[in-house]
Amino acid sequence: MTLSLYERDSRALSSLQNLRFFPLAVSGGRGCFLTEEGGRELLDMSASWGAASLGHGHPAICEALAKASKDHAGCSILSAASLPAVELAERLLALTPGVGHKRVWLGHSGSDAIETVARVVTAATGRPKILSFSGAYHGGTAGSMAVSGHSAQEGVEKSPGLTLIPYPDPYRPIDGDLSGDAALAHLRDLFRTTCPPQEVAAVFIEPIQADGGLIVPPTGYLRKLAALCAEHGILTVCDEVKVGVGRTGKMHCFMHDGFTPDIVVMGKGLGGGLPISAVIGPAHIMNHQSAFSMQTLHGNSIAACAALAVLTTIEKEGLASKALQTGQVLQDQLRQNLEANPLVGDIRGRGLAIGIELVTDQKTRAPASEAAAMAIYRAYELGAIFYYVGMNSNVLELTPPLTLSATEAIAGSKIIANALDDVANGAFDKSKITGFEGW
Ligand code: PMP
Repeated sequence: MTLSLYERDSRALSSLQNLRFFPLAVSGGRGCFLTEEGGRELLDMSASWGAASLGHGHPAICEALAKASKDHAGCSILSAASLPAVELAERLLALTPGVGHKRVWLGHSGSDAIETVARVVTAATGRPKILSFSGAYHGGTAGSMAVSGHSAQEGVEKSPGLTLIPYPDPYRPIDGDLSGDAALAHLRDLFRTTCPPQEVAAVFIEPIQADGGLIVPPTGYLRKLAALCAEHGILTVCDEVKVGVGRTGKMHCFMHDGFTPDIVVMGKGLGGGLPISAVIGPAHIMNHQSAFSMQTLHGNSIAACAALAVLTTIEKEGLASKALQTGQVLQDQLRQNLEANPLVGDIRGRGLAIGIELVTDQKTRAPASEAAAMAIYRAYELGAIFYYVGMNSNVLELTPPLTLSATEAIAGSKIIANALDDVANGAFDKSKITGFEGW
């Protein structure tokens, strides 16, 4: 009996890291398409949760990897300076605004980068507390989960110094406030009562709350939050892991709001599919202590060369502005195609980070989580890959490769509309989603 790739996966791989929504089994990929076992091509509207920033098999990454492995500058930066890592750090410093001397830490993932920041900000400032947002997903290691506020990690131990604050969601405003000021007032209250600001080392901020529901905060909110934190000497840490590296039309997403964080965390798209992350922050924090946060392969030359190729390609091909333009095409098409669909409550995003929030009732805005699970399954059947996010599991998330063409965006939008129509019309067999619990 020949087993399918999906069955072999279930028999060989642990389910601890499964986050499955449909039985996708991939054997290859090119450009913005993934090839399923059997040869079917699927339009990749997720880019593996944003990691495949240049799509699949981009020549710049292929060349960089071949070159790096032929003349290999070692595997580790712990006990030697390594040319690709130094070049990458220099490039990141040049790309990241901010005052004073900065240094770069290189890691493997968003999770290890966030964990490092959470440890070092408290150690270096002597302040024990950390703020982060309800709905925030900052990673899947113990230290990064400890400073996250996502419902998927319920029951996971939190940092004793953690205080969660509300993320201003214009679709679900606090007390009807669309400015973000109510969220800031809540924080001021905390400062006056249970969370003295002089005890807070840092606030972790997603410039778009991605896994929490692709929530774009109100204009000006991040700037005001940063100013309030600066008053109290609280470091702002911007987690750009999902929406950074050109995805929203600028190199860093925080640049949309005229706010410059003290510490920037990058990951996912930085490596274009290779595992690499980066933290860029003030030297007095980032040089706090040697041998403080290290793993043998951190900043290894292969991953660093991939990241250099990604940054060079984004610049050479103008991929940040292309993401803005294609994102606009995609959002416009979605608005047109989904206008009449009763499930669609909101369409939002920046560049190629787009969310479609599904509701069962336009007035009450009750989350339609089952519809989201069915819609992404149906879209998979129709030929497009993307997943859902959100504290209520009801927001379809689109983070395609930055190389997505307008034609592909239009094709993707049609598939999404057809899938949502099928779900709204009851033309999808609900039993298919059994066993794909997602998150
Ligand atoms: N930060 C953000 C904003 C993320 O979206 C994620 C992953 N979804 C992470 C951190 C963790 O990244 P990784 O899974 O690559 O460790």
